[in-house]
Amino acid sequence: MQVLRLRFAPLRMTGCVGDSETSSTTGTETMDTRIGFGFDSHEFKPGVPLRIGGLTLEHPEGLAGHSDGDVLLHAITDALLGAVAAGDIGSFFPPGDPRWKNADSAIFLNLAMEELQNAGYRIVNVDTTLVLAAPKISPIAGEMRARVADLLGVELNQVSIKAKTPEGLGLDHVAQCHAVALVERAADEDALKSMSAVIESQKQLEDVVEDLLSSVHGVPKKRVAPVYDTEDIT
Ligand SMILES: [Zn+2]
Repeated sequence: MQVLRLRFAPLRMTGCVGDSETSSTTGTETMDTRIGFGFDSHEFKPGVPLRIGGLTLEHPEGLAGHSDGDVLLHAITDALLGAVAAGDIGSFFPPGDPRWKNADSAIFLNLAMEELQNAGYRIVNVDTTLVLAAPKISPIAGEMRARVADLLGVELNQVSIKAKTPEGLGLDHVAQCHAVALVERAADEDALKSMSAVIESQKQLEDVVEDLLSSVHGVPKKRVAPVYDTEDIT
């Protein structure tokens, strides 16, 4: 006699059939992909280090802010929070809170990633546009992408960082950033259900496995008639 333990993912609804009243997709249960947008801006200020994308850049001025003023990470944080409708950076980290004075903005990004995971989603890709007069971003964009991908725990090709100068805006003293994030529902390993069955013989075990493969993956069964009683599986 053997004990067969099966683990399987619960069925998940990805769409509905019905009239317009019952098939509405309110909440996140029926959405497999969602999108979030984030925007941030900070004024340049002498005497502080310039932090963008988790890097310290060579520049005579930094960005004024309660935290380290990392405009890129703040915009991505808001895009991720927005994707799962979890509020914004200010609702988690009020600007007046002394705990976040000069804080590394990777902390904010980590919290947004936790919110994303708790909602059952993961990042598909993040696209950003920095708007600032100086310094030039293109020479360090590769390094910045790698740093942001590292912070987000994703591959390099899932992160895009673009930069423009604020032509005609009269905002050379300000750095701005726009970010969008596409997220998708993650397979939840923890949601796997377990089922145990007492198997009387090797043949019965093979039959159960064969039947599962047939019903789940469409593998043709060797025998047409099942030789075990499904009542045995509790
Ligand atoms: Zn900010």
